[in-house]
This record gives sequence, structure tokens and C-alpha cells, in this order.
Amino acid sequence: MIEVKHVLGISGGKDSAALAIYLKNKYPQLAIDYYYCETDKELDETYTLINNLESYLGKKIKTLKAATATHEAQFDHFLKLYGGYLPSSNARWCTRKMKLEPFESFVGSAPTLSYVGIRGDEDREGYVSHKENIQSIFPFRKNIWSEEIITRTLTNKNISLLEDICLTVLPSRQKDGLIRVIKEPLSFQYDQLRKLADLLTISIAGFNKIVFEFLKTTEYPISHLEDYPLLENEDVLVRSDIFKILEESGVGVPEYYNKIEFEVDGKKGYYSRSRSGCFFCFFQQKIEWIWLYETHRNLFEKAIEYEKEGYTWMQDERLEDIIKPERIKQIKEDQLKKAAKNSNLKSPYLVDILQEAEGEGCAACFI
Ligand code: SF4
Repeated sequence: MIEVKHVLGISGGKDSAALAIYLKNKYPQLAIDYYYCETDKELDETYTLINNLESYLGKKIKTLKAATATHEAQFDHFLKLYGGYLPSSNARWCTRKMKLEPFESFVGSAPTLSYVGIRGDEDREGYVSHKENIQSIFPFRKNIWSEEIITRTLTNKNISLLEDICLTVLPSRQKDGLIRVIKEPLSFQYDQLRKLADLLTISIAGFNKIVFEFLKTTEYPISHLEDYPLLENEDVLVRSDIFKILEESGVGVPEYYNKIEFEVDGKKGYYSRSRSGCFFCFFQQKIEWIWLYETHRNLFEKAIEYEKEGYTWMQDERLEDIIKPERIKQIKEDQLKKAAKNSNLKSPYLVDILQEAEGEGCAACFI
């Protein structure tokens, strides 16, 4: 039997940390290798989280560096190579060079299952590796498989093969309902998403068994496993579960998620940071830049130093301009309006108000 690696990337964010804790407790039989991709530009809170997590897991989280023959910070090394061209959402060389490439060379050519902490309340796949020997698994979601695998499994030409699999591997209580849905061809009226939802509604474990057996006819990494404990997993974890896991384990929630009070014209509001990643990450919202300026002034000043020769972190505004008193006031007022719209949210974490920012970005940096 070919050996399959199990790996989990710790981004420094809450979801990957919670996933590591969850998998250790629920599936201790999985020998997972943890890794962290260094940029040398994270907030201190990220390193605290990684240290706490190592103690909890009782295992080292391997630090991966893309550039090994340099004394410079990783990000600065690559920035020079790109002639000072700051990364942006359209030119995200930072993620590719410092996160994906070191991850892919760490994995090498071994068939690998990579666990990704996208939650059950999120509708995305993230920016994950597409190398053939790396297969992503999403344990927090009802559907643990990637979109690519679902498409490959549910294609109409597989209907009779999947029906045979149902007859062979499923217990009779799951068989009839799942076969009925499997036999329904995909069409304009009945698309893949609906079919998937119908199958998962009948039985998550039953559906997982069908996919697992089907994948044995392919070269996906999981085809090398005789059995896989997550097939039976019916848990769906949402944001509040993540905070609970971090708090109850004692690993703790990174401090930057905690709301901090600000005042504007006598009105009280809150700000915080909504995710991990480099302190200057271009994905952050304006209110997060103000948070950085007012709570981590030295880092904000370092971020300003990168803005030269016409390159800026935000497309429409320079950092020097965002900290003019009138502009800070305006951004805080916008934040108050946003908070008023979300006033029904009782979470102690501002991330619930900033949540749309979480949807952007990539699995490698923020999960
Ligand atoms: S956190 Fe942001 S700036 Fe840092 S590597 Fe990720 S996308 Fe790039």
C-alpha cells in the first residue's frame, strides 16, 4: 500500500488552529504533519497562537521558508525580486511565493491529504493547491470534498457506476434514497449543487462512502487508503464553534480578534482585526488599517515605508492619507453605521461585523 501523508497548514488564523485541535481530539489515529509558512511579517499574536498550539498538540509545527539562503525577512526578499511591486488582490505573488510554493515542495510527490478549515457557514473553497498529488479535505463542512471531486463524481456518465457502488457498499437503510437521487441526471433544472444537497440531506456518511469508493477508481491520494475515518463525520462547524474550541482548549483566541472601543463625536464603536496574515495585508478593510494605526503604531509606520515609487497597499488611497484626522473620523463613522446595521449580532468578536472581509483572500493566509 502506498503511504498517504496527512498535512494541515496553520495560517495563524482561528479556523486552521481550531481544525488542528478538533482533528487531534476526534481523530487521534490520523498522523498529521502541521506546517506554517513564514512571511516574517505577521503580528506577534500569530506567533503566540502558534506556540500555544504546539503545546496543546504536543507536536512541532514545521516552519516553511520559501527563501532559505537569505538573511532578509521572507517578504522583503521577494519584494526586492519583484522590484518593489507590492502584492495586491490582482497580483498576489506573496501567497504564491511564500505560501503555496513552499507547501508544495514540503509535500513533494507523495499522495497527500491536506486538511482545510473552511467552515460550514462559508461558501467558498479558498485558494488551495491544485497539484495532482494533493487533495483537500474540508472536515468542518457537510461536504468534505472539493468541488473538483464532486464534479468528477456526479457527472452523468457515472450514474450506473455510482448505482452499483450504492448496491455494494451501503447498508439497506441508506440505499434506496441515495440511489433514487443518484439516478436523477444533472440538467438545467437539476444542477450539481441541488443534487449534492439532496444526497447530503439523505445521508452524509452514505454519500461519503459513495465518493470514497468512486475515488478508488481514480488516482486521487485518498484512493490509496483502505478506510478513512472522516467518512462517518457528520459534524458541521460554524464560526461560534471555532471560538468555543479555541477557548475551551486553552489555546485561546488571537488577541487581535478582541473588540476595542473607540469614540467618535461622543458615540462609541468598536474595531479589531478580522483575520491573521501579514500586518500590512492589502485585503484588510479601512477600519482595520485604523485599528493598526491606533493599536500597533510601529507596524503601521513600517507599512507606510513600503509605499514608495507609486506603489500603495490600497488601490484608492495612500496610508499617509488614511490617517488624516478627518479621514479617520469618516472611517469610524462608516464603521458605526455598519455596526448599527448588524446590531442584532451579540458576538463579543467584531469579526461577525467584519465577516464579509473573511470571504476574500485565501485559505493559505487567513483560515
Ligand atoms: S497575508 Fe496578505 S500580504 Fe501576507 S501573504 Fe497573505 S495575501 Fe499576501
